[in-house]
Amino acid sequence: MGLADIVARIHAAEARAGRDQGSTRLIAVSKMQPDERVLAILNEGHRLFGENRVQEAAGKWPAWVETFRDVELHLLGPLQTNKARQAMDLFQAIHSVDRPKLANTLARLAQETGKCPTLFVQVNTGEEPQKAGVLPADTDNFIAECRAKDLPLVGLMCIPPVEEEPAPHFAQLAEIAERNGLRELSMGMSGDFETAVAMGATYVRVGSAIFGERP
Ligand SMILES: *Cc1c(COP(=O)(O)O)cnc(C)c1O
Repeated sequence: MGLADIVARIHAAEARAGRDQGSTRLIAVSKMQPDERVLAILNEGHRLFGENRVQEAAGKWPAWVETFRDVELHLLGPLQTNKARQAMDLFQAIHSVDRPKLANTLARLAQETGKCPTLFVQVNTGEEPQKAGVLPADTDNFIAECRAKDLPLVGLMCIPPVEEEPAPHFAQLAEIAERNGLRELSMGMSGDFETAVAMGATYVRVGSAIFGERP
């Protein structure tokens, strides 16, 4: 547990997979964590963080962004269109683009402001009704739609069903990305990030294994 241990495990998984050290970026998922734990990781020098909710991130990150140089914030959770403008101001990347209405709003705001965070399409690889994300069968079309709107789409994100082997889901995400020419794969959390690295993750999203259990 702890940041250094997770980084070492990522490097070992990269080596086992014949990948370059550092080819997987670690997003420290700070949602719901007490401030002192997040500050400890900032003080260790880590700069890439993930949050699930716009409101929560807007409440705590602006001050830390002022204090610590080069903080990079990624939104991992579902985004409502009425929070899109705020999210585009706060985050450098959004991993949860999952429907045409949101893509339209992001495209309109990008036109208006002349800037847009880096975007990932979330794919519901487990086809779970309660989970966000585009169904695998609809993903190629949705990617094409996003590209037609000139959105800066760089990759795909998935959250496999909790009770299933994650590897087939990671493999499916990698395959969809490959055939669409997308280079970034956001996959792998505390319980399965080494599997994700083995299958080509370029971003892993690790919360509790770094910070401890969320209160
Ligand atoms: C909370 C969360 C994580 C991190 O989960 P841990 O199991 O604490 O590592 C990763 N990705 C998303 C989308 C999350 O919501």
